[in-house]
Amino acid sequence: MKRIGVLTSGGDNPGLNPCIRAVVRMGIHMGLSVMGIRRGYAGLVGGEIHEMDARSVGGIIGRGGTILGTARCPEFYEPKGRKEALRTLNRFGLDGLVIIGGNGSLTGALELYRMGFPVIGVPSTIDNDVNGTDISIGVDTALNTILDAIDKIKDTASSHNRAFLIETMGRNSGYLAVASGIAGGAELVLCPEEETTFKEVVETVEDAYIRGKAHCIIVVAEGWQPGTQELATHLRERQEELGFSVRVTQLGHVQRGGAASAFDRILATRLGAASVRELSAGNAGHMVGWVKSAIKLTPLEEAVAFDKELSPSLLELADIMEK
Ligand code: ADP
Repeated sequence: MKRIGVLTSGGDNPGLNPCIRAVVRMGIHMGLSVMGIRRGYAGLVGGEIHEMDARSVGGIIGRGGTILGTARCPEFYEPKGRKEALRTLNRFGLDGLVIIGGNGSLTGALELYRMGFPVIGVPSTIDNDVNGTDISIGVDTALNTILDAIDKIKDTASSHNRAFLIETMGRNSGYLAVASGIAGGAELVLCPEEETTFKEVVETVEDAYIRGKAHCIIVVAEGWQPGTQELATHLRERQEELGFSVRVTQLGHVQRGGAASAFDRILATRLGAASVRELSAGNAGHMVGWVKSAIKLTPLEEAVAFDKELSPSLLELADIMEK
């Protein structure tokens, strides 16, 4: 193996740059030439590829976003688009590819591998729903961003005796909501993995008021049904009974930005470096994950077979702490 490529694909997060840096520097350390592919699979289909040297990744470890850009690429779902990608890989003389992304991107990686190209996947998504790794790159930083917001909202909520619905990202995964709810001392967490009725929410808010709390913080995962706005409307119609007035904060894309936490920088560096080692060792078709504080290889097929489930013990802990 002489020349490898690296791309970031799908949803972005603050750990992408540290991971790109690790791939480039480990590649150079191992005597490989490393090419950066812009805008994920779109750049692979369109041939947006350039050589990267050790300096090209200088100063990016603390920078959010991704210097390679990321994208969603509809063409890559089709065999025709993937064939174009293969042509590009051959045209630029690439022998292997590191793909950094979430479940969708890793499924794309598996498709490319099935067409005979050596790829290795790196799990990177704030949703924390990839199998074969205890935690994905970007989760810890997003969690810290949410926690900072919860702490600040608590201050203002207490000043005005308010109930706040704080909506977190995570698609169908409730991980960010549950973990930030535990860390932020929320009165209630609503997530897709657990059914909670409007009636139960009303009871929690009333109870918090009666027990003399200055605020009621409810963290709502974006995937929770019937949804944050619907709940807000329901609560506002019952403002008199609740005691607290209700406000909504949708944290949105702020959760994807900022400098990566120390944990994410180290995780991204470990996984990025391991991806090059494993690719070079002939372990294409796998994803490098972090399991029980060690690098673990999982076949891409297994990694993307289903979305990783939220740990029941974490959910249970959140329920116990919501008092
Ligand atoms: P994430 O990687 O964050 O889960 P997406 O699900 O949007 O993000 O996937 C990113 C990109 O990966 C898609 O735009 C598409 O180009 C590619 N991709 C996703 N799923 C598949 C699939 N089943 N087959 C081929 N390519 C896929």
